[in-house]
Amino acid sequence: MLILQHANIIKNLKVGMIFTHKKHINAIFFALLLIFPSWLLTAQNTESKQLVQLKTVVIDAGHGGKDPGTIKGNVQEKNITLSVAKILGNKIKDRYPDVKVIYTRSTDKFVPLDERAAIANRNHADLFISIHVNATKSSAARGTETFVMGLDKSNSNMEVCQLENSVLTLEDGYNSKYSGFDPNNPESYIIFSLLQNAHLEQSLIIAEAVQNELKKGPITHNRGVKQAPFLVLWKCTMPSILVELGFLSNPTDYKALTGKQTQVQFANAIFKAFEAYKKQYDTVIEVSAPQTPAPSAGDGKYRIQIMASSKLLPSGSKEFKGLECEQVKVGNMYKYTVGRFATREEAAKELEKVKNLFPGAFVSTF
Ligand SMILES: [Zn+2]
Repeated sequence: MLILQHANIIKNLKVGMIFTHKKHINAIFFALLLIFPSWLLTAQNTESKQLVQLKTVVIDAGHGGKDPGTIKGNVQEKNITLSVAKILGNKIKDRYPDVKVIYTRSTDKFVPLDERAAIANRNHADLFISIHVNATKSSAARGTETFVMGLDKSNSNMEVCQLENSVLTLEDGYNSKYSGFDPNNPESYIIFSLLQNAHLEQSLIIAEAVQNELKKGPITHNRGVKQAPFLVLWKCTMPSILVELGFLSNPTDYKALTGKQTQVQFANAIFKAFEAYKKQYDTVIEVSAPQTPAPSAGDGKYRIQIMASSKLLPSGSKEFKGLECEQVKVGNMYKYTVGRFATREEAAKELEKVKNLFPGAFVSTF
């Protein structure tokens, strides 16, 4: 917190400088010089610093193989999503050679919904971007929209969500794989009202960034950021979004979705949002000393993250449901963790218990 306070002072001073007469500037620099050594010394006593970077992104081209997605004439959704996914992936690789880009598919093949999330989880991805194209019976609906996982109160996004989720009926044994989930039965979706999305706030940040860029064109109609229970996002243990680039059923959108140049523009827009998100994500974190000793705390690097919040919650907050938490500040977010474990296996064992209280909890390294 100490660093934060001084950072704020410095920020305020910087803003103030714009309006300050030149002769005051020297005085401000002098004041900064006085401030810096003192906070460095104090900070070292209580906090250690680590560099956190967005290292792995999974790009998920919707549909594929026997599942064409939405169809209009000769045009199939699966081909548009793959084309945009690849342009996006190449752009990220070019600009950020250190970032690992993983595709859930790079050819025209069928990949089950749960496998898409599993690919991201196995590779400890920092971000999951699923790319889709929409369609409705009416040709009037148009525009771009970006979804994060969850149930909104109105359930107003169920139509597009059921359409995308219905893919799973093409999967062998889907009934047991998705615990009897029926994509066409509204009651199936009730389980999601109990779901805590540990990555909601981060997902919303990248979703907003995507919409901000997409609205610049080629499809300028902005349907905004929405929340709906997309199965492909359900099991992702990282910030994740699903982008609907436009409606094949709308003639204007259709033109943009099928054009080679306009597909590059879509990929560029998502790339710019990725860039903005990465800039915000890559940061030096301050690892605080535990507020209270965590249960079974060792000095291992594996912890169980139960939630993230832009608000600083004091220890003992009722949000922690009685668990003793440690807090780690990453960018503008506070991540809350329980326990420290030497191995991922030990952490996973404890995770099973923690999940009773926090179903969205997951193992993370710090
Ligand atoms: Zn789709």
